[in-house]
This record gives sequence, structure tokens and C-alpha cells, in this order.
Amino acid sequence: MSRHYSMEQWIEYVQGIGSAAERDLMESHLYGCDECLSLYMNCLDEHPLPMDTEQTQEREYKHLDQQVMQTIRSLPTFEIPSGVSEASKLSTPGPRRRRLIHHPAFHYAIAAAITLLLMSTGIFEQFVAETGRIDAAAGSIAIQERSVSDKLMEKTLQVLDTLHNKEKGGTRP
Ligand SMILES: [Zn+2]
Repeated sequence: MSRHYSMEQWIEYVQGIGSAAERDLMESHLYGCDECLSLYMNCLDEHPLPMDTEQTQEREYKHLDQQVMQTIRSLPTFEIPSGVSEASKLSTPGPRRRRLIHHPAFHYAIAAAITLLLMSTGIFEQFVAETGRIDAAAGSIAIQERSVSDKLMEKTLQVLDTLHNKEKGGTRP
């Protein structure tokens, strides 16, 4: 019987880290060792088995998208008078909003994460300020709200696609 594996190693195993050969060894050890099996089960509880890396990222970023949505709602450009708010709600097409909400969770979560990144680097603020100016000229809150979400989504998805393509072409076999 070979030596036991550490908690850390099992976490890595659960997360899919490590060579195929090493993982095979660990798996066969798992079948013959109750001690490691219980360690492995603990790791599974704390680090749910990822179906793929995309779902792992989705889990990690899940709480971020709520933060981002809150931040977006609290941005000055979205503080609109209640009377106008009704009008803008009516003039903002429902399908568009639903489409964003039902966007594949992975893309949405990553977009949220990228939004956070953009915000932290100040790009987002610049972007919002820019849109705010355009809107002041147009004088339409509905257009402003749409253009912010549209352009933001467009922008983040562009970045996302770039990252995604790089990842596919790079580290994966
Ligand atoms: Zn063991």
C-alpha cells in the first residue's frame, strides 16, 4: 500500500489539477483506502466537483455578479426620478433584459467579473461618464440605460471571447 495523500492533494484532485497518471494513481488509492476516501469526501464538500473549468469559474464568480448588479444600480446615471423611471421601464424592451438575465450563466458571471475588473481600473467609470454625456445631449434616460447595458455587455463579451479563445488555443490540448 502506497503512502496516503494529503488534504491538499485531494483538493487538487477534486479541482482537476495534476497529471492524468497522478490522478489515476490517486483514484486507485481511493478505492483501497477508507482514510483517504473520507478526506476526499470532505474535499468534495468544500470544493464541489467541477464539471469543467467554466463551471468552477461560474461558482467562484457567482457572488460577484450580485455585487456588480448592485453597483450598477447604485451608479449616479441610474438614479432617475420615479416618474421618469416608470416611463423608462416601459420603453426599455423586456426581451432585452430577459435575454441578459438568461444569458448562459458562464458568460454572465465572467462578464460580471470583467466588469469588476474594468471598474477597478477606472475604465468603467470613464465609460459611464462618457455615456452620461451622450445621454445629456440626447436627453433620454431610456436610451442611456440601454446604451450602458448594451455597450457594457458588448465590451465584456468581446474581452470574454478574446480570453476564451486564448485559453482554448493555449493551455488545453
Ligand atoms: Zn490513503
